Amino acid sequence: MKGKQYHFELMKSKITYDLLIIGGGISACVFASKYLQSNSRKKIALIEAGRGLGGRSSTRISKRFEGWELNHGAPNFNISNSKNNLQLNSYIDELLEKKFIKIDDSDLVFLDEKLNMESIENSDFFCGNRYLSLNTMRQLSENIIGFNKIKDKIDFYFETLIVDLKFNNNQWIISSQNGDEFKSKYLISTSNLLLHKRSLEILNINQIPLRKAIPLNNDKSIDLILKFLEKQYFIPRLTFLIYTNKNYTYKDFYSKQYRYFYLKRNLENKYRFERIIFQQQNKKIGIVVHTKNTDLINSYSKAKDENIFIKNISAKFNQLFDGNTSVNLLSGDEKISIMKWRASQPSGCAVPLSLQFNRKYRIGFCGDWFEGRGFGRIEGSIMSSLKLVSKFKNLN
Ligand SMILES: Cc1cc2nc3c(=O)[nH]c(=O)nc-3n(C[C@H](O)[C@H](O)[C@H](O)COP(=O)(O)OP(=O)(O)OC[C@H]3O[C@@H](n4cnc5c(N)ncnc54)[C@H](O)[C@@H]3O)c2cc1C
Repeated sequence: MKGKQYHFELMKSKITYDLLIIGGGISACVFASKYLQSNSRKKIALIEAGRGLGGRSSTRISKRFEGWELNHGAPNFNISNSKNNLQLNSYIDELLEKKFIKIDDSDLVFLDEKLNMESIENSDFFCGNRYLSLNTMRQLSENIIGFNKIKDKIDFYFETLIVDLKFNNNQWIISSQNGDEFKSKYLISTSNLLLHKRSLEILNINQIPLRKAIPLNNDKSIDLILKFLEKQYFIPRLTFLIYTNKNYTYKDFYSKQYRYFYLKRNLENKYRFERIIFQQQNKKIGIVVHTKNTDLINSYSKAKDENIFIKNISAKFNQLFDGNTSVNLLSGDEKISIMKWRASQPSGCAVPLSLQFNRKYRIGFCGDWFEGRGFGRIEGSIMSSLKLVSKFKNLN
């Protein structure tokens, strides 16, 4: 889905939106599609810093290595809490019915200290029901927002990083790093970057944008949300994308699309890998390795020669799978690219859902940074978006 190409001057002077959405991850797509179902005449725009939809649950479409599309963030998602949540349950049923997702019946094994494979263990990413996008994870976001021609009703602005927020005369005026300006009656922020102190360094600014727009002591709930976020921090991660050679196969002729290996704590400490996801596509097997090990992440930042670092990663992979009955070792000449996530998942203090919407300032928030069983996961993003849509009922 390409961004609409507006000339800035035209856009700046003529368009005031009913609603602007900052972010193009799964929470934004769920929110936009549900909101437009009952507000089809509203003029809305979605503004995303990246080149496409999906955010942290997207897919790397490699330019360097043609034909590879690997899910580099969340490879799938799990719903731990659907039984007691009718709204979430029925949305998941809707996604299943539309064939945007399917039950993930891929094999998942936990490797223990002796490199034995076990099939039972608990993990936040694994409990409850697991689902897969029928295509890539990026396609899931595109399908959600593309359904029923909803995307034709939205103006998309990609590669547009918002750095400044203003609320004047009951209207939001938000500005991008390139100087583009957007105006709207309501604002939705699906990322908390513009509310969090990490924005100071990332955006090279001297005040948190939401704090600047709504100064202290103007509104209790805005003050509270910012206070909660002072205690929220983020888990950094590195992802290694291994583009295997064309004759790379499994030892055991496994045929499902995905295969997951999770490392138990002691093994994770030793190998510094968190989980390894084999992704089968067009008769090739791509391998995605996640790590949240701080030493490994730091050593990558300090690495003078990326090739040596990459060689070490494939050597570690081979050590881990040496003698494994399912997985073949790497030959050492595979192509490997690296993705660094400064903030892969929120951790620490979750924000209460009661602070999601502020009527006075016409601003709403959703994403995986809100409280609930899905905190830090796609489940939380979907649930908070559905809840936010219901808070918009009866507003004009
Ligand atoms: C490596 C990794 C592995 C993961 N594994 C799993 C898993 O197995 N299961 C699971 O459930 N979850 C997993 N997660 C977490 C999951 O990806 C997130 O919970 C989910 O994708 C969050 O979606 P979101 O829409 O709330 O936020 P995001 O996907 O972060 O969307 C927010 C969007 O806003 C954009 N944005 C931010 N600030 C601005 C700005 N100022 N201007 C313009 N645009 C802006 C960002 O570019 C981003 O695209 C993983 C995450 C990572 C990184």
